[in-house]
Amino acid sequence: MAKPIGVMGGTFDPIHFGHLVTAEAACEAYDLEEVIFVPAGRPPHKAAKYISDSQHRYFMTVLATIDNPRFTVSRVELDRPGYSYTVDTLRTLYAEYPEREIFFITGADAVLEICSWRDPWSVLELCHFIAATRPGYHLQSLDRLRATLGEEHSQRVHPLTVPALAISSSDIRERVQAGRSIRYLLPTSVENYIHKKGLYRHGG
Ligand code: NAP
Repeated sequence: MAKPIGVMGGTFDPIHFGHLVTAEAACEAYDLEEVIFVPAGRPPHKAAKYISDSQHRYFMTVLATIDNPRFTVSRVELDRPGYSYTVDTLRTLYAEYPEREIFFITGADAVLEICSWRDPWSVLELCHFIAATRPGYHLQSLDRLRATLGEEHSQRVHPLTVPALAISSSDIRERVQAGRSIRYLLPTSVENYIHKKGLYRHGG
């Protein structure tokens, strides 16, 4: 049977080593053939919040993943007009990879909100979730989500603790704005891109 594929969903504003280590750990833990990074297009839950231009987030994701043969980047949410709903993304990818199991990898805090996503039961039929957590995260909140989902669907939510997720995009943005170092938190190519394009200097 063909190996499952991973779909790494996130805003990636910017992508950092925590995301990359998470994808690599998921690959190993679930024997994934590849991980497709999907930068969020227009996240519905962030409509009122400033996020960087999608082209910048896409380019940074490509730069960060280019040297890993198992990582690819998809423009599926960037090229689709309107808000980006995960259910639409999963349907598109499912059509591209028929018969494959899909593991959708994202932050545990995002997974906790899936009941508020568009068509959550279809989402749970289409994929398994790998809920990546920072060290010290209270796993009880994921247990509560599982209880809400019921027995069958709760088996589709898999926690994964990733020490490198102590790094966060918001901390990197704040550091750039304050003129502090972001070295060793993300690939040098992404760091150079941020400085070259003047991203995050003025907050958002
Ligand atoms: P978020 O709310 O910005 O992030 C929540 C937490 O998860 C943050 O701590 C974040 O850290 C972390 N995180 C995000 N993506 C991660 C990843 N791939 N691996 C590890 N940690 C990650 O979440 P978001 O980025 O906006 O959304 C996550 C995914 O859920 C996206 O694919 C989005 O499209 C999807 N989503 C869909 C719907 C819907 O269909 N209605 C609604 C909400 C979200 P960093 O800030 O350091 O990344």
